[in-house]
Amino acid sequence: MQHRYQIIQADWTITVNSDFEVLRDFAVVLEDNRIQTLIANDEIAELDCYQSAEIVRLPGCALMPGMVNSHTHAPMSLFRGMADDLPLMQWLTEHIWPAEARWVDPSFIADGFRLAAAEMIRSGTTCLSDMFYFPDEAARCAQEIGMRSVIGLIVLDFPSAWAKDADEYLHKALAVHDEIRELSLVSSAFAPHAPYTVSDQPLRQIAMYSSELDVPVHMHVHETAHEVAEAQQKTGQRPLQRLDQLDLLNPNLIAVHMTELDEFEIERIAEAGVNVAHCPESNLKLGSGICPVADLLEQGVNICLGTDGAASNNDLDLLGEMRTAALLAKGSSGNASACDARQAIEMATINGARALGMADRIGSIEVGKHADLIALDLNSLNTQPLYDPVAQVAYAASSRQVSHVWIDGVAQLKDFEFCRLDSAEIIAKAAAWAQKIKS
Ligand SMILES: [Zn+2]
Repeated sequence: MQHRYQIIQADWTITVNSDFEVLRDFAVVLEDNRIQTLIANDEIAELDCYQSAEIVRLPGCALMPGMVNSHTHAPMSLFRGMADDLPLMQWLTEHIWPAEARWVDPSFIADGFRLAAAEMIRSGTTCLSDMFYFPDEAARCAQEIGMRSVIGLIVLDFPSAWAKDADEYLHKALAVHDEIRELSLVSSAFAPHAPYTVSDQPLRQIAMYSSELDVPVHMHVHETAHEVAEAQQKTGQRPLQRLDQLDLLNPNLIAVHMTELDEFEIERIAEAGVNVAHCPESNLKLGSGICPVADLLEQGVNICLGTDGAASNNDLDLLGEMRTAALLAKGSSGNASACDARQAIEMATINGARALGMADRIGSIEVGKHADLIALDLNSLNTQPLYDPVAQVAYAASSRQVSHVWIDGVAQLKDFEFCRLDSAEIIAKAAAWAQKIKS
């Protein structure tokens, strides 16, 4: 079989390997969908084994691993800007849940997922972890687009267009898990919505299936002080205590938000290896609270980043999220060294891969990994002069500077233009949905 080689030559390669090496004037050589080697530019010129390779020269650019959006509700992009300036429970119960009941069907999923995936690719995200209804449809869209995705298999106690009760959600979850396991870019995670919407019995089953199948569990946990206080009032327990008893606190759990944590809980989740998906902009916008990132980092907890859905953010720009996360950690802890530029970039890349059980495949630029890569063009006013590309990426660059994106070795964005997606068509479909929903 003929192998296809691509050589990407950027001025800086931010590897995000365990030593966080930043390479100057290196070429990253792709063989089909994988990273074959990293080699100095002046050495590659002398090799003739890559004569047939496609060469992409990126002067003034930084190449880095594609970002991993560890928590989103991709199809909810179609609800962007529909209900704003409200606290979580009012936003959910009076606006989002009724709109979902009225509008969500497979065509909504297809158009919403495409809109979200296009926005993410355009802003440098190459892998998303989703939670929404009709996960079978989302998986199909992800594979068709070429977007690496971990599709959440939603479980709730209450009915929706997707299932009528927890048993049916679980039954369908297992069926979708089986149906999509052979897809190359898509895998699945159990996605019980939250402790307050899923009862003990389905959670016990999820804990069992997750451990048997080694599949992540993706769940909103301790999103607000209200959630924790209400659970204490009803059950006498904090939700995390309950999840611990249900055997859910382990390295398969991606606990989303975690704004309300006491000292004991931080120690417990560190000891149990629980991953935290931090969504600072959604937490700020809904007035939900602030995840204690500095304390979690100190305890060695794996923190990854998510945008949450576009209805509560209101964008899916992980580069912006990275900066908000770093600034918020510093501001809320009173420590300017908390969440430094490297840690912020790790949270947006390798930590997300680790949380999703994919750190052996993506999240850094290392030989043998899948080629999920992005380039940022730093030849802009806001990123000059350039002392340190890491600082520019974390604190100064805009997602509009993402010039190239590859997912699994396939170019998705080249010179700021989509290679496979038709943005005009995606925007027209989103506008048509807004017309329908408004009327
Ligand atoms: Zn969410």
